[in-house]
Amino acid sequence: MKYRLVCSACGIEYNSSEAIQACRDCNAFLEVVYNGVGRMPREAEEFWDFEDLFPDGKYRHYEVGFTRLIDSVEEEGLQLKLEIGNPTRSFKDRGSVIEIAKAAEYGYKEVVCASTGNMAYSIAYYARLYGMKARVFIGGKANEDKIADIGKVGNSEIVRVKGDFNTALSLSEDYSRKRRAFLTGDFCYRKEGQKTLAYEIVLGCPEVTHIIVPVGNATLISGMYKAIAQMKAAGAIRRMPRLVAVEAERCMPLVRAFRSGKEVRYERPKTNADAIAVGFPTFGAQALAALEKTGGVAITVSENEMKLAQREFYRDYGLVAELAGVASIAAFKKLRLRRKEKAVAVISGGNV
Ligand SMILES: [Zn+2]
Repeated sequence: MKYRLVCSACGIEYNSSEAIQACRDCNAFLEVVYNGVGRMPREAEEFWDFEDLFPDGKYRHYEVGFTRLIDSVEEEGLQLKLEIGNPTRSFKDRGSVIEIAKAAEYGYKEVVCASTGNMAYSIAYYARLYGMKARVFIGGKANEDKIADIGKVGNSEIVRVKGDFNTALSLSEDYSRKRRAFLTGDFCYRKEGQKTLAYEIVLGCPEVTHIIVPVGNATLISGMYKAIAQMKAAGAIRRMPRLVAVEAERCMPLVRAFRSGKEVRYERPKTNADAIAVGFPTFGAQALAALEKTGGVAITVSENEMKLAQREFYRDYGLVAELAGVASIAAFKKLRLRRKEKAVAVISGGNV
């Protein structure tokens, strides 16, 4: 679909032919705004069936998405969306495949990102498919297995950063400014790819009333809201499912803001669930709006609750998920659904 880029803070518009991710005037993130509603398919068999809902671009149809949706063997009214089935074992691939295609289209030979692990692995993977180099800044309690996986992709340079994710983020921004490297990560194009998770869930489980999403930088949940709003506008759904945001008790900036009604404030991450150890979610304000508009809720889970869910997940399905990946299952236990309500928990990643 034809689109333009609009600053989320000051509203300045940029043409889609410009390779920018942040407003030149105020540095706030940009949003993809379409010049139409797009065609929502009634049925889909692969990720690329949603292409009409993506920003116009030159996409190579690499394998991604269309992960399995299975019934929980433990909980009534719960289904699990297994994002660990993506090529690099996390939902990030949905965004990377769009974002990297855009970087290639704009003529870049190198991409740069900040990551706690999964993002970098995913970006390096698709960058290699497009013949690009990837430079990744890793901050915080990064998981050594994830870093080893990134190294194996072969086209990437890993820079370890003293400091957390937000420190790594500002270093990656500096690098992209100084060198000709496309800044990838939780920006506007990634969000457009991540919308597909909501399309697939609604097509796979049309009666879904709650979608439970682990929250790090909040790109996924805000992308999913965008998708749900799109589907509502296109008449594909009558009622929007409620979005449920999950954070770790030991890193809960969004939950605090949700409870207090105040703005999201930085908090030092202390959780071992590295994929959601983000002290200041980029799309925090948008996530709060998504919760409000869908009648959703933000809840926390403890380190022990995640560990238990991880063990049970392995026992029940023989599959490995990371702590953040099963935070959604731990959260379901606290939701207390009514009869006839149906939840889908996003098992967001499995890199352990
Ligand atoms: Zn601006």
